[in-house]
Amino acid sequence: MSEHEPLQPLSDSQREALEEATTSYQAALTADAARWLVARGISREAAVTFRLGVVGDPHPGHGKFRGFLAIPYLDRNGKPLMIRFRCLQEHDHRALFHGKYMTLEGDAPRMFNVGAVHEAADEIHICEGELDAVILRMLGLYAVAIPGAKLWFARHRRMLAGFSRVYVWGDPDDAGAEFVSKVTRSLRTAKGVRLSPQIGDVTDTYLAGGRDAIFDAFKPKELVAA
Ligand SMILES: [Zn+2]
Repeated sequence: MSEHEPLQPLSDSQREALEEATTSYQAALTADAARWLVARGISREAAVTFRLGVVGDPHPGHGKFRGFLAIPYLDRNGKPLMIRFRCLQEHDHRALFHGKYMTLEGDAPRMFNVGAVHEAADEIHICEGELDAVILRMLGLYAVAIPGAKLWFARHRRMLAGFSRVYVWGDPDDAGAEFVSKVTRSLRTAKGVRLSPQIGDVTDTYLAGGRDAIFDAFKPKELVAA
């Protein structure tokens, strides 16, 4: 899909199918998947809020995602607009002909946790990983996610244009640098957050240093005091 193509609204039947799938995947969240989430810093409560689940009984078109984590992209009312799938196995995903993260072909790229745009006051955070945005939300921050520089579109810039500060949490690698550079070039109020390559992304930073490590990363104390 081109960056300039407007987002087509979903039909009622598409919305119903997504709601049905999300509800059934939520109910199928296994103890193993819940442990996997907790090991990544995501509480049971956050998993419920974000309606995370596991593809137990795949809905039509989801057959190849059986056993994957289902990450719904919810609208501001908590209703799913699309679902992204993440393989929960520690293996070479490419060798098995799938990516670590997968979406359905034809799904328009969307912003994860778009409700944050409506809830946040004057500052908002943007992550590369959906689960990174969940971590920030657990810490009381308003965060959306765009999974990669290639999925940052003009309409996303417009959605965030009203904020006085947009913190951009790119992963500390080349792809993350590209993401931060693309967002900060298109949005005057955007500021990249520096994460340590020795530690890793938002989730790694949170697991290593907790809440303080996250707040120190985007609001260094000397700046807060100034
Ligand atoms: Zn896999």
